[in-house]
Amino acid sequence: MTDLLIRGADLVGRGRSDLLIRNGLFVDPADAGADLNELDADGLVALPGLVDLHTHLREPGREDAETVLSGTLAAARGGFTAVLAMANTTPVTDTAEAAAHVAALGARDGHVQVVPVGAVSKALDGIELAELGLMARSSAGVRVFSDDGHCVWDSRLMRRALEYVRAFDGVIAQHAQDPQLAGDSACCHEGEISGKLGLPGWPAAAEASVVARDVQIAELTRSRLHICHVSCAETVDVIRWAKQRDINVTAEVAPHHLMLTTNEVLGYDPTYKVNPPLRPAEHVEALREALADGTIDAVATDHAPHARHDKEHAFAEAAFGMLGLETALAAVVETMINPGLLSWPELAKRMAIMPAHIARLADQGRPLAVGEPANVILVDPAARWVVDRNDSASLSRNNPWHGRELPDPVVATIWAGRITFQKLR
Ligand SMILES: [Zn+2]
Repeated sequence: MTDLLIRGADLVGRGRSDLLIRNGLFVDPADAGADLNELDADGLVALPGLVDLHTHLREPGREDAETVLSGTLAAARGGFTAVLAMANTTPVTDTAEAAAHVAALGARDGHVQVVPVGAVSKALDGIELAELGLMARSSAGVRVFSDDGHCVWDSRLMRRALEYVRAFDGVIAQHAQDPQLAGDSACCHEGEISGKLGLPGWPAAAEASVVARDVQIAELTRSRLHICHVSCAETVDVIRWAKQRDINVTAEVAPHHLMLTTNEVLGYDPTYKVNPPLRPAEHVEALREALADGTIDAVATDHAPHARHDKEHAFAEAAFGMLGLETALAAVVETMINPGLLSWPELAKRMAIMPAHIARLADQGRPLAVGEPANVILVDPAARWVVDRNDSASLSRNNPWHGRELPDPVVATIWAGRITFQKLR
């Protein structure tokens, strides 16, 4: 393989430097030979490749909405070098064979590393534990388990799952939604706007109360718990309390919850229907603060592609979810970097280092240093564009940022030494 030389990248905090990549690893730039591909990184920031803890790739089962190929192309465009593929596919990833199948699809079609998430319960039914141990010991080496889309509501099942994964350093990622406080039809933050629009309410307490229970079970079992897509201030308070007690809990926030509020729903546009729902501004503020101070450890996209015929319905009937991979970094730059709430090294921690650590990915979120795997992105901190949902690698178009001016940061993505995305400059 020809060497790749990245010239003059800003390594934020470590000055400007050249990076030389050979056989998928960083090597000493002084060793550069004559046979070189060069990337000019003048004015660009170099960061570790981003890692998404929460991607719905839809394959197998819903290849009309997304495939491993299209979803990972979108991921590479967004600056990601690894994604965790959620288990709620058809069939569900609840066996060693199903996990191996997803890993094999990733190895064949992936433009990023594809890491299967295993289901906690069989068929996501919330009743019987899935084959956690077999998935962990399979070639896929599953470490993250989640019934995402559904809450692990049975506290005894949650206890057993947490006890089980402790043996192999696994983690249970909870979609926190009390089904009795926020049932399947709940689709709008419970408050003034849900009342005015006549939409079934989804109160903050339905999230925070489940998280309060689960951190207690995590303390009881001394096991690793992760909270998916934290959406409200009350949940932040619970997580802050749990961390003060040294409970082993981590949490993620989705880019849309850092920027968009319940007001988006006023036009009944189903693009803004997402689970958990968009919340009022005071919650958005609390989430930004929590991400800044580390109470929330990571940003995760909850990239949820949907075919037109599933999304283009009246608000109450439309599918939940929005695209996220291609615009996640843009939203975080806009909400966290530009107002000075996060520095670039802190952003790298929230979007690469911590997600890789939570998922126990040895080759991701590593320093940009000699001997390390060459997973790196080049970022233009100043570029902006008006988001066009048709300029996308995803097969779906449910993009909540369409028509908005946002940063356009990703210039190049390099995964295992290979350029997986490059924008012409
Ligand atoms: Zn979820």
